[in-house]
Amino acid sequence: MRLSIAAGLALTAVLIFLGELNSAYLAFTATFAIFCLSARISLNWQIAIGTGLGVALGLIVFNRELLEVGTVMKPVGRVFIFMLKMLIAPMILLSISHGIASMGSARELGRIGARTLGLYLLTMALAVITGLVLVNLVQPGADSGLLESEFFRGSVLERAEQSAAGPDLGEFLLTTVYQVLTNPFDSLANGRILPIVFVAILLGIALAQMGERGRAAVDTIDGFYGAVMHIIGWFIRLAPVGVFALVGHLISTVPLAQIVEHLAAFSLVVFGGTLFHAAVTLPLVAWWFTGVSPLELLRAIREALAVAFTTSSSAATLPVTTRCVEENLGVPRRVSSFVLPLGATVNMDGTALYEAIAAVFVATIYGIELSIGAQLVVFLVAMATAIGAPGIPSAGMVTVIVVLESVGLPGEAVGFLLTIDRFLDTVRTMANVEGDAIVALCVARDEPAAAT
Ligand code: ASP
Repeated sequence: MRLSIAAGLALTAVLIFLGELNSAYLAFTATFAIFCLSARISLNWQIAIGTGLGVALGLIVFNRELLEVGTVMKPVGRVFIFMLKMLIAPMILLSISHGIASMGSARELGRIGARTLGLYLLTMALAVITGLVLVNLVQPGADSGLLESEFFRGSVLERAEQSAAGPDLGEFLLTTVYQVLTNPFDSLANGRILPIVFVAILLGIALAQMGERGRAAVDTIDGFYGAVMHIIGWFIRLAPVGVFALVGHLISTVPLAQIVEHLAAFSLVVFGGTLFHAAVTLPLVAWWFTGVSPLELLRAIREALAVAFTTSSSAATLPVTTRCVEENLGVPRRVSSFVLPLGATVNMDGTALYEAIAAVFVATIYGIELSIGAQLVVFLVAMATAIGAPGIPSAGMVTVIVVLESVGLPGEAVGFLLTIDRFLDTVRTMANVEGDAIVALCVARDEPAAAT
């Protein structure tokens, strides 16, 4: 591997010397990809390196016409975004049907299941509402002038014809109902998220109710779900290269100060919203349903929150979350073993909040003031995609593309958000894990007879 990297760098140098800068860029990108696939340093560091290289290259290229940015940098970034988009539909179908099908027996599904799902939906809805209120108040991205740049203009031209305020809610709902009742393979093939979520829920409930007879199908779904997660894992290993290309493209066409200013405003809104949800809304929900005080609660789950922050993965945090709720909050094993694994894939407050803010932010950059109806579409799609997102690092980076496209915004705009995704993933994962723990507590308090 070291030899290939050295050869790639040598080739890049020769091509620069010969003045073949476009080819040099591609040779360097391929070399960086080999480095990422073989290096032992953590993905976070690799992404930081990709960002740094992208910034450096973007600054060198900025306004200098050294490279044909649109023909070499842009396609590399787009390939990465297409890779992410490729697996969204199967991921959501398998993740939700697997989560619901493995909820256990039909009896369990009816009793604890309905309460768990209800609370998951409630906390996620509160999160999205917080996000939408905050982003509408602060309006990050307003009058940013970012649309002047080729990075954004190039994408906006590819948008499908839309009304200026985004889709109409009534029309959206009616179309969704028709789509739900059409062949599910059609929805899968065309990546229509709400019908996919609906089919996944039906499939999951049917399999759970079938008990032993559905076992083989549940195992198959489990296997495919694992395989899709595995493939996404490979693709995410190439994220540093995608970030290198996207950041390079962005910075070579948009002044750095402008990017930093607007991304900082966006990050502050995401942080503020997530913090409010995690420190005020969720503890209040817990207190309302169980009487446990916010301080007691946060102290009981602080270890899980720390692990969520460092791993950016609800799934990886699951063992710690389970220990915290069982040992510190007295949640019986039969409740935690059911509520928490389901929550690690289904319940994503932080992710839903992030997606909603991102959609309105990107719309604002494009000068589109989303109508209330369009924001309700954002609300629904953010909830649905957060439910379908797996509890792994950067899952929200993938699903936010669907939310953007649901209101007619170009999915490519995710390139702008990607630069800070790893950073924001830490806090949204904390909110996701906290939501799971609180729902487990609420369900447990409602089950006084439950034995540990
Ligand atoms: N990393 C998050 C989680 O595991 C998902 C996301 O990327 O939003 O909960």
